[in-house]
Amino acid sequence: MKSLTPESTFRTRLDRARAEMARTGVDALILSLGHDLPYLTGYLAMPLERLTVLVVPRDGEASLIIPRLEAPRVTEMPTVFSIAPWNETDDPVALAHKLLGAARTIAVGDQMWSRFLVDLLALRPSSTYVRSVVVMEALRSRKDVDEIAALVAAGAAADRVAAQLQAGDIALVGRTEAEVSADISARLIAEGHQKVNFAIVAAGENAASPHHDAGDRVIRFGEIVLCDFGGSMNGYCSDITRCVHLGEVPTDIADAYAVLFEAQAAGVAAGTVGTMCEGVDAASRAVIDAAGYGEWFVHRTGHGIGMEAHEDPYMVKGNSTPIAAGHAYSVEPGIYIPGKWGMRLEDIVVATENGPQPVNHTNHHLVVLDR
Ligand code: ZN
Ligand code: ZN
Ligand code: ZN
Repeated sequence: MKSLTPESTFRTRLDRARAEMARTGVDALILSLGHDLPYLTGYLAMPLERLTVLVVPRDGEASLIIPRLEAPRVTEMPTVFSIAPWNETDDPVALAHKLLGAARTIAVGDQMWSRFLVDLLALRPSSTYVRSVVVMEALRSRKDVDEIAALVAAGAAADRVAAQLQAGDIALVGRTEAEVSADISARLIAEGHQKVNFAIVAAGENAASPHHDAGDRVIRFGEIVLCDFGGSMNGYCSDITRCVHLGEVPTDIADAYAVLFEAQAAGVAAGTVGTMCEGVDAASRAVIDAAGYGEWFVHRTGHGIGMEAHEDPYMVKGNSTPIAAGHAYSVEPGIYIPGKWGMRLEDIVVATENGPQPVNHTNHHLVVLDR
């Protein structure tokens, strides 16, 4: 789809990228697949065998090397970058090499195919290579007002689907996880998403696998059902997890859920500007540890979100990056008892100078359903 972002925003982003390149000693930036490219140009490259790559010299014009047959998909922005189309018999890596000129330190996007990077390395053996995150993290992790508005809109759409789940509008008992997953996916589209990124539906013991693939397991009365779903709406992602229980909640699940509820709220509240990212993880984990479930909380507490469902910054022990206004990330602690059940509670949060602002507001309790 065409970008809704004005050309002036892309120009500002490119100026900021160049300032980061100067600050970090990067001479040139090369971006192929993935979301750094659309962040700077509005164009998301197709993950095919032909090379598309944006070359940004710190002090020269940015050029988008692109197969000629895909060039019509690009919205031209002459004040931001020029288009360098290549024909089927051209060597696009040689073209990139030429545009890189005398650049010594080159920052490379994470999702550039190795088949092209390996050839480029051979052409420029004395260059130094670093990851594009060195340049791009400071830009992409701090969302501007339009990006936050897009995340809020996507979150509200996901909230409406979660509310339908909690209201019992989505039949569960007697259907397979895969059927419910397809139902949730259709509802994400109906609520305004253009694309579904995932719709995990995990019943009973399957919920103990955090990234369970919804399958042909039939959902039964008397068990917990974990639903974790999200998609992309106008280029920005949603991601929410809610659990429901079919029929009366057994004591072990009720006790654990009370801990999970408290842990998630503590993680949200910890996200104040200046706190290290790992502080969010520590806040949620402390509650779960204190209640004795620590060994069953097997993943980090959260991930950044934006154009990608998972991106920097990560809310994990060891990440000392201070939270800044405009950071958007998930807070999603979980408790997983192998062979029995699992549970997770997830909201997206935006850090502001006035404290953490959750994007998701759907009921955080374990809602009991009768069908
Ligand atoms: Zn996940
Ligand atoms: Zn999720
Ligand atoms: Zn998530």
